[in-house]
Amino acid sequence: MKRFFLSLLAVVLLFVLVLGGLLASAFIGNAPIQPGLVDGFIHVVPDGYVTANILDVGDGKVMLIDAGDDKAGKAILAELAALHLDVHAVVAIFLTHGHRDHVAAVPLFPDAKTYVLQADVALAEGREGAHGILTGMMPVKPTGVLVTRGLVDGEVVQVGNRAVHVLAIPGHTGGSAAFWVDGALFLGDSAGASKDGKVRPAPKVFSDSAEQNRASVKALPARLAAAHLPVKTLIFAHTGRLEGLKPLVDFTAEP
Ligand SMILES: [Zn+2]
Repeated sequence: MKRFFLSLLAVVLLFVLVLGGLLASAFIGNAPIQPGLVDGFIHVVPDGYVTANILDVGDGKVMLIDAGDDKAGKAILAELAALHLDVHAVVAIFLTHGHRDHVAAVPLFPDAKTYVLQADVALAEGREGAHGILTGMMPVKPTGVLVTRGLVDGEVVQVGNRAVHVLAIPGHTGGSAAFWVDGALFLGDSAGASKDGKVRPAPKVFSDSAEQNRASVKALPARLAAAHLPVKTLIFAHTGRLEGLKPLVDFTAEP
């Protein structure tokens, strides 16, 4: 009996170590999240280990790109208050994908239209689960999010004085998107920045398909060039940012 419990303990310990190792490998070496104002109109708001972004769209209105991990939306509401805005100022929310740590505060904004690529609508609303090694273990339950409309690759959505260009980059999830807004490229979890200024793909354990994720991100520079969308800043959900398109072009050239 004692031997049985010792074996069980060993198995549990091994599992914890492997899980810890996987999680550590996803975060070690990342450039730390940098809060603050980017390009004069983007407020990067840290919410624990993830960020949400508040973008000025003119006339005292804003839109969000991702809505954090906190259902109470503490960090987002505090940033809005600092800008002398309330929940009614948020007129649109664009989700880079449907994972829970990006959609939590969506229900707090009654006047916002909520958008995510069509393939991630059910995930964002909590009607379907994710398919990654770790994300697939998360329970499936309603998030309280109601998506206004599923987005289509290549479309442009006008919100106030900003045009949001939608680029499908499936892989991290089936409906992962990059959003280009006036020179800023929001990549969500599909890529991140390392401490030495390089673009990294999404961690494999959190992604539906690591291969597809890499291929989608590598295709971006050519697609951006074809659409005449110059990039000033690369903005990632879980790491700091990078300046210019070059880090992405370098990543594309990696074997
Ligand atoms: Zn994710």
